[in-house]
Parts: sequence; structure tokens; C-alpha cells
Amino acid sequence: MPEHPLAPPLLAGDRRALARAITLTESTRPDHEAQAQSLLAGLLPHTGRSIRVGLTGVPGVGKSTLIEALGLHLADAGHRVAVLAVDPSSARTGGSIMGDKTRMPRLTVHPNAYIRPSPSRGTLGGVARRTREVILLCEAAGYDVVLVETVGVGQSETQVAAMTDLFVLLTLPNAGDELQGIKRGIMELADLCVVNKADLDPKAATRAQTELTAALRLLTPRGAPWRPRVLQASAATGAGIPELWAAVEAYRGTVDLAAKRREQTGAWFDELLREAAWRAFQAGLDPARLRELRGEVLAGRQTPVQGVQALLSSVPA
Ligand code: GDP
Repeated sequence: MPEHPLAPPLLAGDRRALARAITLTESTRPDHEAQAQSLLAGLLPHTGRSIRVGLTGVPGVGKSTLIEALGLHLADAGHRVAVLAVDPSSARTGGSIMGDKTRMPRLTVHPNAYIRPSPSRGTLGGVARRTREVILLCEAAGYDVVLVETVGVGQSETQVAAMTDLFVLLTLPNAGDELQGIKRGIMELADLCVVNKADLDPKAATRAQTELTAALRLLTPRGAPWRPRVLQASAATGAGIPELWAAVEAYRGTVDLAAKRREQTGAWFDELLREAAWRAFQAGLDPARLRELRGEVLAGRQTPVQGVQALLSSVPA
């Protein structure tokens, strides 16, 4: 297959080529999708050379402030930093609140940084899938740190944790009260926890650090290669930012990332296959027959298993 014309400039790190490739990937037009897939396939050998960090926390916890501080710290040190966002609210409302360039004004203009807002159209699943592909495009364009931000509500955390190497949960110094508010499921995803705004109340921040450390210890299976760490930071002053990055590096040195990524890609493939199989099945389904069988089951004349079997046998393989 001939090389896609965007591939050479993208591989050379051209930002406009990267932006155009991302737009192509986010498009829902079938011809664009086909082009995007052929572009991605050609770029695959050039992907994988970044550390992929997911970040979450409730609105107001300081995600954009921290991402900007961390991003500047890394970009100044010569890293090339890409910032992406998965924002379910923007997918629903069509307006993007995350990854908005005005939220990270200094990082936006840094030559070593690239900030891309969440696509404002599509379902959460669709946005998450495209973000996975955008990570690969950024890697091919030479970005060696990819930060993926998500708001701490809904299901986007699971999706982001499934596409990143490590997942960072940001909390506030009143985490003791907040502990009830942080869903257990999200705590379980966290490889690192950062008590932000420690400058506001250092004593409370230390207390939160202790409590969260104990809570995470309970959630971590015995013998796990990595034990989640809890740090303090102040995104506003920059305190704790180098330590946060040191913890990311420690994680990278401990966990078998190649194995983790293979597992993630496998799970993603299985999910796409399930979706595609369901769509194909639905296409061959007679809606009247579906209604009829479902009605039989609801009326108690057939068991649900019988209803499903009857439906399966009515669809051509
Ligand atoms: P987000 O909604 O999670 O992205 O939160 P923002 O980054 O927009 O921060 C919300 C507010 O908290 C802003 O007014 C920030 O200036 C402020 N903020 C963020 N980090 C800190 C911090 O470490 N200390 C203090 N005092 N304020 C902070």
C-alpha cells in the first residue's frame, strides 16, 4: 500500500501534519476512516516510544494547573509533551470544556508541547477509541510524554486507564472527607495519587496522604509489582512536580510496560470485535421477530435462553 502523504511530515514532527492526521482520525466519514486506518498502519512501527500517563480528578482539583506545571517542567527539560483529553461531557453536549488551550496558556505556546482538546462529537466509546489512535499519532510525531486528562466523573476513567501506562488520581487536602466521594472503582485504578493544593493546608495534606496511603494499601493485591504511592503537590507553586515525575519514572522502571500494553491492545481488539460482531448481527436481524420473541419472554411463555436461541437461529450466519 502506498504511503499516506501525511506520514513523512508527521514523522518529521510537523505539527500541522499531526493536527491534520488527528482531524482525519476523528472524522466519522467512511472514506476518512479508511484513510486514517491506512495512515495509522503505516505509522505503527514508529509508535510506542512514549510514557502514557492518565490523569483524573474532580473539576476544580487542579488538573489543568498541574498538567501545565508538569508539562512545562518536562518540556523545559527537552521532553516533547502531548496533552490529550477524554471528556464525556463534551461528547454529550457538543461543547468541549477539557484540554481547552486557554486553560494551559503557557504550555500551549511552548515549542515542545502539543495540546489537543477532546473531540466534541461522538459517544464516550468513540471518543476513547479516537484518543487511543491519537496517542499513537503523537508518538509517531516524536512526542515522548503523552498526558491524557479526564474529568473525575462517569466512566471515562476506566477507558483512560485502559489506554495509558499509569493512572494518576488527583485529590484535595480534605481527602479524608473526600474518601467517601472518591468512587472505590477509581481508587483501584490509581497507580499514583497526588494530594494537590497542599499549600492551602499543609497539615490536612499530610493527613490526607496518610489516609490515602492506608486506603490504597488495602486495595493493592499482595505481590503486585508496584505499590501505589501517594504524593503531595502544589500545582500553583510547582512544589512536588519533580517528585511526581520521579515517581512516574520509578513506575516505568518497575512495571513490565510492554506486557501491560499487549494486554491493553488485546482487550481493545476484543472490544472492537464484540462491537463489530453485534453490529453485523443486528444488521441481519428482523426487528419484528426480535419484538415477537422478546414479547414471548416477557409474557413468560419462553425462557430468556430459549428466546435468544430462537433469535440466533433466525439470523443467517
Ligand atoms: P481542574 O478543573 O481540575 O482542571 O482545575 P484547575 O486547574 O482549573 O484549578 C482550579 C482552581 O484551583 C484554579 O483557580 C487554580 O488556580 C487553583 N489551583 C490549582 N492548583 C492549585 C494549588 O496547588 N494550590 C492552590 N492554592 N490553588 C490551586
